[in-house]
Amino acid sequence: MALERTSQHDRVLVDMDNVMADFDGAIFENLKLHDSTVEERPRNNFLFRGDYPEYRAVLGTILHAQGYYENLGIVDGTLEGWELLLRAGYDPTVCSTPLVTSEYCIPEKKSWLAKKLVPHFGKRVVEGALFPVNKGEVDGLALVDDAPSIQGADTATWEQVVYDRSYNTNVAARYRISRLDDPRLPEYLERIRHSVS
Ligand SMILES: [Mg+2]
Repeated sequence: MALERTSQHDRVLVDMDNVMADFDGAIFENLKLHDSTVEERPRNNFLFRGDYPEYRAVLGTILHAQGYYENLGIVDGTLEGWELLLRAGYDPTVCSTPLVTSEYCIPEKKSWLAKKLVPHFGKRVVEGALFPVNKGEVDGLALVDDAPSIQGADTATWEQVVYDRSYNTNVAARYRISRLDDPRLPEYLERIRHSVS
């Protein structure tokens, strides 16, 4: 049997929405198209609709529309951060929970990766991308994610590196970065690697 090219000890799982892909920017732009008077509010809730509760229905329509996920902008530092992980000897792997009620979500996330990352890092980015409903069941050394709480985190093999967002500042995190190319990331991963081996 061929050895796995990588093990969980060098796989770094990377979330997409609000880490690599500018989910919040796009949802707000779309909301403005629906209601030009809407003003930007502080993002205190992980779910966008938590900060814009009266727009719950229209936000659902926006997220389920064809083209939403494919047309998200790229967050600053994404390409540099992917490069940083590769150079440090890690295996960055996309790990994004899909909106299961959208038929477009996963295909469009793959198209997004094909457009934004594959030209720089090859097809492995999209071929290796994971779209689990439960991230806790995916093996990895670390998971870079903006979510304040993640299902299965307690029993997962990975340790979360919290990606700074205004709605997660009150989360007690051992590891926290402000961009994917945050220079502290390789150092954190090294610490995590030593704590698990
Ligand atoms: Mg996210």
